[in-house]
Amino acid sequence: MRVRRRKGAKEHLESNPQYVILKPEEVKGHWQEVFGNDHPIHIEVGSGKGRFITGMAAKNPQINYIGIDIQVSVLSHALDKVLDSQLPNVKLMLADGSSLTHYFADSEVERLYLNFSDPWPKRRHEKRRLTYKSFLDTYKKILPEKGEIHFKTDNRGLFEYSLASFSQYGMILEQVWLDLHASDYENNVMTEYEEKFSQKGQVIYRVEARFKR
Ligand code: SAH
Repeated sequence: MRVRRRKGAKEHLESNPQYVILKPEEVKGHWQEVFGNDHPIHIEVGSGKGRFITGMAAKNPQINYIGIDIQVSVLSHALDKVLDSQLPNVKLMLADGSSLTHYFADSEVERLYLNFSDPWPKRRHEKRRLTYKSFLDTYKKILPEKGEIHFKTDNRGLFEYSLASFSQYGMILEQVWLDLHASDYENNVMTEYEEKFSQKGQVIYRVEARFKR
């Protein structure tokens, strides 16, 4: 996601520690204490401006959500949404999806969402795609046995690549949508990119994949 560099973004994050987990490595294995309950934890890697994660948190108060993004300015926009919502079950953190094992203990995360991840279409950038096998290794560690990844995108190339990557990894494709918005899938929570691309007439692809064990 391209956003203009936001002045004061870092300070904005730092002055809201009730919503932004500033030292996530220190809460590894103790996330339920951060939320003050034992509800399951769902994370979005590459949460952008936070519409999905706050929308999900509003709809599902019995789930704890963490939005994760690598860009300070982007995360600071997500923080604005979280501050507006005042929801107790959503937190944010600045982190790289490749380092999640530094912040989450084995099986600490119940489900992982990827929405409109950067496609990195060039072959030589394959390793940067959030569904590349090294990322799947990381996700598998922090998810429980049979843990699920829910992924949606408008990018056909990344979708095709990801189906193959999940499959080569031995994951089960529980369900695949080739046109999510034309389907009977209920409870869809739109992301910023989803709204933008679907308004332009692009179809939205979705897959629920799970690790075998
Ligand atoms: N999910 C949002 C944003 C999609 S854009 C939406 O659908 O609207 C992709 C986002 O992933 C960007 O905000 C980018 O900063 C973030 N991102 C890219 N690589 C990442 C990584 N390795 N770890 C965490 N976030 C990443």
